[in-house]
Amino acid sequence: MADHGITLRELDERPVTDLNGVGEAGARSLAAVEVRSVLDLLGYYPRRYLDRSREATVDQLALGEEGMVLVRVEAVASRRTRNGRSLVEVRVADDTGGLRLTFFNQPWRLKQLTEGREAVVFGKVDSFRGDLQMTNPVVDLVGDRTGRIVAVYPQSETAGIQSWHVDGFVGEALRRVGKVRGLSDPVPVGVLDRYRMVGRSDAYRSIHRPESMQEMVEARRRLVFDELLRIQLALVQRKRDLERTSVGIVHDTATTILMEKFRAGLGFPFTDAQDRVVAQILEDLARPAPMHRLLQGDVGSGKTVVAVSALLAAVQGGYQGALMAPTAVLAEQHHLGVAEMLDGITVDDPDTLLEQRPLKVELLTNRTTTTERRRIGTELVAGGIDVLIGTHALIQEGVRFRSLGMVVVDEQHRFGVEQRAALREKNDDGTVPDVLVMTATPIPRTAAMTVYGDLDVSVLDEMPPGRNPIATSWHEDDSDVWPVIRDEVEAGRQAYVVCPLIEESENLEVRSAEEAFTSLSDGELTGLRVGLLHGRVGRSEKEKTMRLFRSGDLDVLVATTVIEVGVDVPNATVMVVLDAARFGIAQLHQLRGRVGRGEHASRCLLVGKAPTPESEERLRALVRTTDGFELAEVDLDLRGEGTIMGERQKGRNDLRLASLRRDREWVEAAREEALHLVGSGGGLADHPELADEVTLFLGEDESGYLLKS
Ligand code: ADP
Ligand code: MG
Repeated sequence: MADHGITLRELDERPVTDLNGVGEAGARSLAAVEVRSVLDLLGYYPRRYLDRSREATVDQLALGEEGMVLVRVEAVASRRTRNGRSLVEVRVADDTGGLRLTFFNQPWRLKQLTEGREAVVFGKVDSFRGDLQMTNPVVDLVGDRTGRIVAVYPQSETAGIQSWHVDGFVGEALRRVGKVRGLSDPVPVGVLDRYRMVGRSDAYRSIHRPESMQEMVEARRRLVFDELLRIQLALVQRKRDLERTSVGIVHDTATTILMEKFRAGLGFPFTDAQDRVVAQILEDLARPAPMHRLLQGDVGSGKTVVAVSALLAAVQGGYQGALMAPTAVLAEQHHLGVAEMLDGITVDDPDTLLEQRPLKVELLTNRTTTTERRRIGTELVAGGIDVLIGTHALIQEGVRFRSLGMVVVDEQHRFGVEQRAALREKNDDGTVPDVLVMTATPIPRTAAMTVYGDLDVSVLDEMPPGRNPIATSWHEDDSDVWPVIRDEVEAGRQAYVVCPLIEESENLEVRSAEEAFTSLSDGELTGLRVGLLHGRVGRSEKEKTMRLFRSGDLDVLVATTVIEVGVDVPNATVMVVLDAARFGIAQLHQLRGRVGRGEHASRCLLVGKAPTPESEERLRALVRTTDGFELAEVDLDLRGEGTIMGERQKGRNDLRLASLRRDREWVEAAREEALHLVGSGGGLADHPELADEVTLFLGEDESGYLLKS
């Protein structure tokens, strides 16, 4: 602030056409890659760098290794391959020898690499008919630049964007910024010093024009930190703001009769982890600010009884509770399970003769009939229903409660921010119910900080006792698998066979499940009682099949991923996943969690070839460990953060440089600094420029929270 430099906001208000050299055509090309302002341009970061100090001569190139050489174009030709792809072949050389460059689908190379031009090329060296060759190398035309490190920008043929164009434009932008006042740096000096961060002007210059690779790394570190800090500022501020502006319910957590009765009826003691999490929840419930807590717990860690405890704490004080699941099937299962656990428990009711009535649990989904729905609606408003179980539709449709005190959302990853917002309008007196969201998809700590940074997080990191670890094996061929099922069924156990996931088409998936069912029933599993379950099976049929499987009247359940979550049959000990490479780590882990739920040793058999090295690593990780958090880390390493960020990845709030994977430590640092900067009261009032940057990058929605104070 003291330096009066140019703000990012000001850069964003400058169109690229203000720069010398960016004509109309240039602006059009840039617009095609979403670069419109000077800020966009400076945020169009290089894809990679060529370190000219590592330049070799052609005779030093080694087959099978990457190399970089400065060469002259001797001849260039283009043709089409047999399957119609464009192929440009360029003959280049330096004083020590010749090299052949082959470019597929880059017809413009013909015009770029004209005879006599000099270029630095970088790529893996192979040989073709005795010649040294590079296929689709990185090319940097040697212009008037002298730097040893050359930035290579993302190119786009359709947009007509080539690296050296961008380089020229960026150079002009940097020159103009430097000439005037440099960039303003709103991050407090104390913070920068703590992490030995370079200033913002230097960071932007060095990410584009580094003098050394070290300088580039420093620049990247600073810009990564800025990205992560903006996100954390938004999240922390949102959390503080919710706490400050919403009127929650102060639950009376001193009386615990209902919870005690519930626990006494369970037949098992809570694990230490369950006790700890329930205590955290009760502490939240006793506070006036509404709870916003995420409960992470691996499959089978016993989240349901924690959820029921929370619901009972609310019911105890005369409030109602809601439990929401992502699908109707799951809601139905929760309803069955929870109603059974709460059977025989009574609540006070002065309107009845004995001033007591049974605690009432109801189910409401899109399959509930209109008359039922009407009845439930009336009873909800009258307060005759204590716990309502249903899908997420519960909070969106005009369902009114008398006094909703506690909401549990199962499987958070399908539950969005807007849905959470809808909860704020649920009580007529303006109070906001407490919210517990549960996920069985463990995500790494730093990712949780980013994706769920506006929630408090509890972790169930302990499995109920007596669980047998699930032995997992991978079989390229399915022939070993069927005898395992037969043996287990012989021993009185049951098995699941999950059919290949076909994401593109439910029809195909259903058909493949039907085919598997028929061929297994008539073939490998003949003589066993086999049932079929998939997304197109009607409700009553589905219920019947599940009932038969639960009661042990079916030996094997052939199914699609409809059984992914919530199915709980302790006698099932074998999980076979066909074509397992098609599934993601999290999904396989969920499926595996369907077994190992009882006293018997269980197995999970992953079947099929792994078509890619990545899918092979996935399968190997599952064989290696059953720890969901460890798998989540592997998943993050393999897939990057894209899938985790989900919703929030759209538009400008995209992380450009930062990676939740590589930059874990910076996520933590940014979180810590954001907590300091936002403080406990006044928000970012002392840091208006930072607040404005959050708006600029993350949009009005996020910043709404920042500016309100
Ligand atoms: P998830 O966290 O996957 O939702 P559930 O809540 O469905 O797990 O619990 C899995 C199984 O473990 C259920 O059969 C449940 O009754 C049982 N369970 C939960 N807590 C305990 C405990 N403390 N001791 C023994 N069994 C438990
Ligand atoms: Mg569950």
